[in-house]
Amino acid sequence: MPSEPRELVDRYGRIVRDLRLSVTPRCNFRCAYCDPLGAGAHEPPGTLSVDQVRVVLRAAAALGMTSVRFTGGEPLLRKELPAMIRIAKHELGLPDVAVTTNASALEQRLGELLEAGLDRVNISLDALDPEVFRTITQGGDAARVWRGIEAVARAGLTPVKLNTVVMRGVNDGEVVPLARLTERRPFHVRFIEYMHLNNAAASAYQQNFMPGADIRALVEASVGELEPVETDPSAPARLFRVPGWPGAVGFINPVSEPFCGACSRMRVTSDGMLRPCLLNDHELELRSALNEPDPVAAVIDRFLVAAHRKVASGLTAPTERRRTMVAIGG
Ligand code: SAM
Ligand code: SF4
Repeated sequence: MPSEPRELVDRYGRIVRDLRLSVTPRCNFRCAYCDPLGAGAHEPPGTLSVDQVRVVLRAAAALGMTSVRFTGGEPLLRKELPAMIRIAKHELGLPDVAVTTNASALEQRLGELLEAGLDRVNISLDALDPEVFRTITQGGDAARVWRGIEAVARAGLTPVKLNTVVMRGVNDGEVVPLARLTERRPFHVRFIEYMHLNNAAASAYQQNFMPGADIRALVEASVGELEPVETDPSAPARLFRVPGWPGAVGFINPVSEPFCGACSRMRVTSDGMLRPCLLNDHELELRSALNEPDPVAAVIDRFLVAAHRKVASGLTAPTERRRTMVAIGG
């Protein structure tokens, strides 16, 4: 392991600072736009162990990466999640340790996650209406998710970021009520364009896809013109607010306005594949590196190769993609 952290820079000069680490492909929801594995009792064979995650995180830290986001599948289904957070925060001192979750187990588990050193939580919330929520998640309980959101707000993990994937004809009726949450609460409500990462037929995808501009128009028709909020240019969301309201409304438009030019991310799948880009299936396997005598050095080498393989823009035709979002880690 090198004594001084270095920087991981790709061929286009982009510094890779953010690691998205999928800790399980399993999920207790089945969101309409996602194809998760069910919430069976056991992790599938090949899922990275805590010790293997430690090696990956040590390599990332040695390369100067500053943030890790644990994701999945549903990361809270992984009972060792606090141990992984503890490694990232307390063993390695990463400045930003975050989780993306559907929040269904957040009320119960938040205490142990905070105690382990969690800095931030992103929560997926596709509807406020309990029936729409149940339909889109195929059985999810909106009240339970909402209790998780309130627990995060009480714990002071601000801003509370809520992510909504908008599908025309499915939950576009929820856009305005969700945006209006920002009138009373200092939440960041972020609308994400539906990406063709699941196994939906191309025609069904086209019917359900709703461009960010249309989502914004829906919001503005209800609340008036939004004013921009200054944001980090490498962040995927463009943020706005209604003047005088405490919260913010964000738009993440990976399809209509790809933000590859500012990409600072690298992903590791739950089965140990290093993925330079979400939208591109070129992956490097880490498993053999993890078995080498100096696994951290071997994983660092894989990261350097992967950084070199990052492409200027990752968008490939949907049919070329073999991996769904849960396998990759959203
Ligand atoms: N289960 C957790 C959750 O839902 O927050 C973490 C994993 S989930 C795959 C991570 C994020 O990916 C979620 O915000 C989800 O909405 C988003 N996502 C999944 N499939 C997507 C798709 N086809 N298009 C856009 N976003 C998607
Ligand atoms: Fe599960 Fe998250 Fe996929 Fe929904 S988006 S099915 S909560 S992994």
